[in-house]
Amino acid sequence: MARICAAPGCERVAFAGPRCDLCELERQDKRRAFDKRRAADPHRKIYKTARWLRESRAFLAEHPRCADCAAAGIVEAARAVDHVIAVRVRPDLAFDASNWRPLCWSCHSRKTAREDAGFGRRKGGGGSEFRPPP
Ligand SMILES: [Zn+2]
Ligand SMILES: [Zn+2]
Repeated sequence: MARICAAPGCERVAFAGPRCDLCELERQDKRRAFDKRRAADPHRKIYKTARWLRESRAFLAEHPRCADCAAAGIVEAARAVDHVIAVRVRPDLAFDASNWRPLCWSCHSRKTAREDAGFGRRKGGGGSEFRPPP
């Protein structure tokens, strides 16, 4: 079934799926570049360490509620430990619990998406993501 490509500004015909072949290729290229960049971030490897798994689990046991949801008056179970100051900015604070916040998945993925978007644009990763706690 042919229809017009779903990509904004593109008027080619899409035969398989929502996009035309060219836009589909472009989308895959972008995704691959994005994944590569993420995988290349050396600080991500701390999340794979036994120490991180152990300490983040203990932290969540102590702080079972999502901090962002709690600020909005919502009670939501925390599922992830978030770094207030990103690890790539302050790797020395990676295991410092005073730099940690408990977040639920939706708050955490929202924040991660924001940081990753910024990571692409910002050269060298400045500390502009940092907001002091209220
Ligand atoms: Zn297209
Ligand atoms: Zn939340």
